[in-house]
Amino acid sequence: MSRHETAPHLVLGAGLTGLSTALHAARSSAVPVAVFERAAEVGGKARSRRRDGYTFDITGHWLHLRDDRVRALADTLFEPGDLVEIERRTGIYTHGRMLPYPFQANLHGLPLPVVQECLATFLEAQVEAGKPGAAAPRTFEDFAVQRFGRGIAEEFFIPYNRKLWGDAYDDLTPDWISRFVPLPDVRQVIGGAIGLRQDGLGYNARYRYPCRGGIDALPQAMGRAVAAAGVPIHTEMDVVRIDPVAREVHTASGRVQPYDRLVSTLPLPELVRRLDGVPAELVEAAGRLRWVRWRYLDVGTTAPVPMDEHWVYAPDPATPFFRVGCYSNALEAMAPPGCGSLYVELADRDAPPDLPAIVAGLVEMGALSAASDVAFADVHDIEYAYVVFDEGYASAREALFTHLGGLGIRSCGRYGAWIYNSMEDSILAGMEAAQWLSS
Ligand SMILES: Cc1cc2nc3c(=O)[nH]c(=O)nc-3n(C[C@H](O)[C@H](O)[C@H](O)COP(=O)(O)OP(=O)(O)OC[C@H]3O[C@@H](n4cnc5c(N)ncnc54)[C@H](O)[C@@H]3O)c2cc1C
Repeated sequence: MSRHETAPHLVLGAGLTGLSTALHAARSSAVPVAVFERAAEVGGKARSRRRDGYTFDITGHWLHLRDDRVRALADTLFEPGDLVEIERRTGIYTHGRMLPYPFQANLHGLPLPVVQECLATFLEAQVEAGKPGAAAPRTFEDFAVQRFGRGIAEEFFIPYNRKLWGDAYDDLTPDWISRFVPLPDVRQVIGGAIGLRQDGLGYNARYRYPCRGGIDALPQAMGRAVAAAGVPIHTEMDVVRIDPVAREVHTASGRVQPYDRLVSTLPLPELVRRLDGVPAELVEAAGRLRWVRWRYLDVGTTAPVPMDEHWVYAPDPATPFFRVGCYSNALEAMAPPGCGSLYVELADRDAPPDLPAIVAGLVEMGALSAASDVAFADVHDIEYAYVVFDEGYASAREALFTHLGGLGIRSCGRYGAWIYNSMEDSILAGMEAAQWLSS
């Protein structure tokens, strides 16, 4: 028997996708499974940080569960009551006012000429869309204008997404949005404009969150379940090279691990960089994949956060951030008693944060009572935040997946599949990867 016949299936990465793969494969695969994770702990993007009694996630990580299989899994991972259900409180701060989310269905409260322009161009867009032969939108901006009209697009979708996507904005296609942008009908838009509040629209009207705070309770519970199922999770294993012919993974510490089948949740360009024998045209295809890096602040406050919202979108170009969330408004346990914990997602992802301008913006919005409430503001970067859906996206991705499929490697999860997804999607991707391992 060769050593590969006794080698385990190997899962690279212990984020939610890798953990879900390992957990489900442990139940279904005849071949043993092992996980290699670069970090010292499990969780990937669903990890949390703690400081002085404050808890922060890697910006807002709110758990929206729609799939019965994932709900059932959550029930096995948490004791009853340990995963609380929370009704979303979300706002848009623009023109110096706080509006309910989503913008397109809650225009009431904006300056009247703005409401008029938004409504008029929204209705014109509906008429245009009803005409035969309307062209499919090519860019994200085309989509926003065609679907919502120029007023709503220019007041919200365009400035907000310019801040979120930075330089990549102009090249965005609409492919990523369909599920995530609420599409209210004409009655809802008109109702929202005359002051009939439109709540509960969109994919995430309610969400769940661990009651003791920190989304990392989810991956940690999954990690315990994986270990209990007999699958070892090897942390601090930085995979630096993959030989798909010898079917071996090499780590920075010099370990060489044979594998039977390989599931990778590494960002796709990182996987390609580590893979031996990739043809030049595919190296070039991987070079066409683009992503955006984010810079954000964890802010601890010494006083409660005055605004009610759990998170707020800030489309105005002059505001130095595009979204602010308040963990402690969602769950008090996220900050010491009488204090608050915020995340602030910054429009400028390169320059050192201009703290006085950011704090002034937070005070204006109502996320702080006064600048003196700030106990600390820690800066963090997310290298792979969002993958960019541009015109080269689909062909580059398909070429790489064809190659990986031929090598018996499954690349999945948010960055492995190179998509825009949620934590629930990642758990589902792991279930599918486990089926593949067991097939
Ligand atoms: C800013 C932001 C906000 C989000 N908010 C939400 C939200 O509110 N709700 C929601 O449902 N989803 C949200 N998501 C999506 C959610 O984070 C992802 O769906 C999910 O965490 C992705 O899990 P994953 O396992 O696919 O990837 P990751 O979590 O990135 O896991 C990949 C793992 O691979 C490991 N790894 C990388 N390189 C190596 C290497 N060389 N060797 C070994 N291991 C390696 C990493 O350390 C990591 O643990 C958000 C994402 C971002 C970026």
